[in-house]
Parts: sequence; structure tokens; C-alpha cells
Amino acid sequence: HAPIHVIGGGLAGSEAAWQIVQAGIPVVLHEMRPVRGTDAHQTDKFAELVCSNSFRSDDHEYNAVGLLHEEMRRCGSLILSAGDRHKVPAGGALAVDRDGFADAVTDALRSHPLVTVERGEVAGLPPAEWDNVVVATGPLTSPALAQGILDLTGEAQLSFFDAIAPIVYLESIDLSKAWFQSRYDKVGPGGTGKDYINCAMDKEQYEAFIQALRTGEKTDFKEWEKNTPYFEGCLPIEVMAERGVDTLRYGPMKPVGLTNPHTGKRPYAVVQLRQDNALGTLYNLVGFQTKLKYAEQARVFRMIPGLENAEFARLGGLHRNTFLNSPRLLDGTLRLKARPALRFAGQITGCEGYVESASVGLMAGRFAAAERLGKAPSLPPPTTALGALLHHITGGADAETFQPMNVNFGLFPPVDARGPNGKELHGKDRKLAYSRRALADLDAWLGRAPAAAAE
Ligand code: FAD
Repeated sequence: HAPIHVIGGGLAGSEAAWQIVQAGIPVVLHEMRPVRGTDAHQTDKFAELVCSNSFRSDDHEYNAVGLLHEEMRRCGSLILSAGDRHKVPAGGALAVDRDGFADAVTDALRSHPLVTVERGEVAGLPPAEWDNVVVATGPLTSPALAQGILDLTGEAQLSFFDAIAPIVYLESIDLSKAWFQSRYDKVGPGGTGKDYINCAMDKEQYEAFIQALRTGEKTDFKEWEKNTPYFEGCLPIEVMAERGVDTLRYGPMKPVGLTNPHTGKRPYAVVQLRQDNALGTLYNLVGFQTKLKYAEQARVFRMIPGLENAEFARLGGLHRNTFLNSPRLLDGTLRLKARPALRFAGQITGCEGYVESASVGLMAGRFAAAERLGKAPSLPPPTTALGALLHHITGGADAETFQPMNVNFGLFPPVDARGPNGKELHGKDRKLAYSRRALADLDAWLGRAPAAAAE
């Protein structure tokens, strides 16, 4: 077989390369480090962890990222096996010795007879002769390649910052206080006039909230992030709060066109939440990108009437991050519709996190290998963590508001889980129902799909 080219030896590219060689197909792995560095990496190792050494919870019954770990193990993941071998004590989390881990990944790939490593930047779009490519160049994709992608996709389809507003599970919003309504009951395309959830504040609540935003503890921008353009367009909410007491009331918290049906009054200020996924299980706080620390976000955002018991699918953030508008640009097997020889993987597809990036690499590697073997790629069922994440990236998420996403149970199709009394299960019991269904469906998929048997 002709080789598949993988660009980027990070979390996603390493996993993709591994999955490809397990299917018996040669790989040329292009990594620019150490010839050219990034602003965050410090070594020339594959799968270098640029910040924390944690893969987060390893609980595969009650936690979606733990479930993703287990699914990846069952798929013969290199990243998970190296992580398990270089585990350090971290309670219920899977944390690793970063050097031991990266060395293990690097050695496994370098010593594999089907892997050729090419050190050097792919400075622009890959040559047309490369007919099957996995682009896994990450959140810090080199500028020359980013420019090549921009030329192909158009300016608006590649972002350089993620401005993430917190995302809340619908079931944790108190609808005896909040209500569904679009501003001026406007019915947009495909809308109902009730597309937003609104949380009203009176003057006193609003002023206390502004004060909490101003005094809440924040994380700093890294020196190199300060110099990245594109930032003024997505100011953190606390920066807006600092500009004046009323800045937010004339910005994302403006109360116009809304009436609180619980009081019959026009509110003093409003927090709006917009549906975040096609399933309607997740809602984001519109305009609430923030640099507040995570614990502070949970505390401050639970001051919002209706969100007192909010459970967050993910908290807000603002980081340097190169990512595609994948729901618009990629097909169901992660290929660029405009140029199907290019398949994308990792954080550049709009997933978020080490494990998610590696998992998208795992899928991209399998799909690329199947294609080289002349087979139709087999997609993981949408009820698995792999399938749920893939579905979100490649179409489940709204392309208009697409922002990077961690895996979470809100991405899964709802499970019909009932207790012995016939009542719907909630909380932990419901999560367990999701994970059991996922692992059963994953096993069936692995048993069925011949490409998946190569371990
Ligand atoms: P990477 O692991 O970054 O791999 C991409 C690789 O491509 C790099 O090795 C790079 O050198 C190479 N490359 C880039 N351009 C080219 C080119 N043109 N030619 C050849 N090679 C190229 N996630 C977490 O879960 N926990 C964290 O603590 C965390 N901290 C982060 C901190 C920072 C500063 C950043 C930027 C991200 C962080 N993330 C974190 C998010 C994300 O999970 C990681 O960035 C993760 O490494 C993404 O995996 P990836 O494979 O997509 O990209």
C-alpha cells in the first residue's frame, strides 16, 4: 500500500499513526519539532503534554471522559496504553508521568517498521500527490499551514481563539424562574419564537452580579496570547463588567424585547441561554466567555436566577486555539468536503482536551486506513462516547455558534432509563445507563467491523 501522511505528532497524530499501522498500512509522520517549535511545546517528543499531566476522570461508569478512556482502550489506543503504563497516583483521575508517557509514545512509533518519521514543517497545504492525509496539527498549527487552510476554507471558517461561554445541562435549569422566549418573539429560520432561555435579574441582583464578576478570581493571559490578534471581538464578560456598571446591560445582558411571564414585567437585565446541540440537552450562556477561574465561574453563575442549581457541561474560557468550523466543513468521516484527500483530527476539529484530541485521532486513523484498503469506513455508534463526539463535530453542533467541546453525556442521544418503579432515572443512575449502553454498543461495533480488529 502507498503510505498515509500524518501531519503533526501530537496527541491526535500519534494515535492516528498508530491506528493506521495496526491495519498494516505504512505511515509518514511529519512533525515540525524540533526544527520549528510552537509557543507551548518544549521537547521534540511525540504526544507532549503542553500543560497539565491529567487525562481527567478515569471513572468509566459515571463520567463521560472516563468512558472515552475505556472505549479507547478497547480500540487498542496507543495513547491510553502508554498512559496506563506511566500512571501516577491522582485519586480517580488518570494522570501520567509526562516524560515517561511521551517517551513511550515516541519509542512505539519510532521503532515501528511501518512508520517513517519526517522532521520538518509542512509549510502550506500538502502536495496534491499525497492522496490520503491526516492533518493533526493542533491548536498551535503553524501559520503557513493555517494560511493554506484559510485559503481553502475562507476566512470565517478557521478561528484562532476559542471564546467559550459556559454550557449548562437543560435539566438543571429552574424553569419556574427562567422562561423560553426569543427577543421580540422573533421567529428566525427554523425557529419558534421561543429559541432562548431567559433568566431575569432585578437591579439589586444585577449590581451584585457585576460586583461578583469584577472581584472574582481570574486566570491570566499567557504573554504570547496577549499578542495574538482577533481578541477584541470576544471580550471576556468580566472585562466588560469592569468597563462600567451598565456595559453588560447594553451588551449581552440587555433586557429588550423580553417579558418575564412569571412576573409580567420587563426585566432590568437578562442572561440568555441558547441551545447548544441538536439534541437540545445543552444550553450556553450567550456572550459569557470568561477568564474567571473554574470554581469562581460555578459560584458566580449560580447567582443567576434560575441557575442556582446549574450543572455545567463545560465551563467558560478564552484561549489561543486554531480550529475549523467542522460541522460545516467536514464530512461524516472527518474529511474536508472541499478537498477529501485531507482528513482532520485532534483539537483542530473543535474537540477540546488531550483525550478527546487523541480519540478523534483514533477515529481518523481508522477511517483513513479503511479508505486505503478500499473499504467503507465504519462509524462508531452515536451512543458511544467516540460516536457522540464524532457526531457533534461533524454535524450535531450548530455551525453558527460552534466552539470547542469536551466529551459529556449531553452529547449522547437520550437513553430511556427507568427504575423498577417505571420512573425515569436521573443523576448517577442515568449516567450509568449511558455508559452501559455505550460499552455494549462499542463491543458490538468492534466485533462487527473488520478494520477494528487490528490490534
Ligand atoms: P498537539 O498535541 O498540539 O499536536 C500538534 C502537533 O503538530 C505538534 O506536535 C506541532 O508541533 C505539530 N505541528 C503544527 N503545525 C505543523 C506543521 N505545519 N507541520 C508539521 N507539524 C506541525 N488539554 C487538556 O486536556 N489539558 C490541558 O491541561 C491542556 N492545556 C493546554 C494548554 C495550551 C497552552 C494549549 C494550547 C492547549 C491545551 N490543551 C489542554 C488542549 C489540547 O488538548 C492540547 O493542545 C492537545 O495537545 C491537542 O492535541 P492535538 O494532537 O490536536 O495537538
